[in-house]
Amino acid sequence: MEFSSKLLEKAVNEMAQLPGIGKRTALRLVLHLLRQPKEQALLLSEALKTVREEINFCKSCHNISDKTLCEICDNPMRNKSLICIVEDIRDVMAIESTGSFKGLYHVLGGKISPMDGIGPQDLNITTLIDKVKDGTVTELIFAMSPTMEGDTTNFYIYRQIQDYNIKTSTIARGIAAGNELEYADEITLGRSIIDRIPFEASLKS
Ligand SMILES: [Zn+2]
Repeated sequence: MEFSSKLLEKAVNEMAQLPGIGKRTALRLVLHLLRQPKEQALLLSEALKTVREEINFCKSCHNISDKTLCEICDNPMRNKSLICIVEDIRDVMAIESTGSFKGLYHVLGGKISPMDGIGPQDLNITTLIDKVKDGTVTELIFAMSPTMEGDTTNFYIYRQIQDYNIKTSTIARGIAAGNELEYADEITLGRSIIDRIPFEASLKS
């Protein structure tokens, strides 16, 4: 791709770093921004800058939050003894939209994937085990995507907490086999949390 402007080339290259955006799409987006009123385009750049600089992660569950504790962890109505383990923030959003879950979450920030060089130490696992150790948790619900990496991650965590006297369960698997939680419809996803099964039972199937 030949550019008549270095500035344009730089903007396109940066845009093309985003997932799912090739150079052609990047060029289309940048040209679109150039056609917009300047104020409008700057609103986008300002929003990106603020979100990157100012956003926090909840110190308890690692969900995205504007404060030290996210609104879910900070809500006295939520059941603090029940923790749903998810891969990322999109899963929290998907489960929250069902309105079926009143416990807390723990966002791992990915899944164990040796192929991609991601090990347990790269995920928010220690803080989860600490919550189990301090005794406030009575049940952990595994809600990772039903993939090999998801299974590996569940099993790794299960082994770590096996000796503590807590219940472990997994969301009903039929729902989103091969899919990500965010794509399951709200009713199905909501049901799969209510109809969760003991984790040990899922190992045998
Ligand atoms: Zn939180």
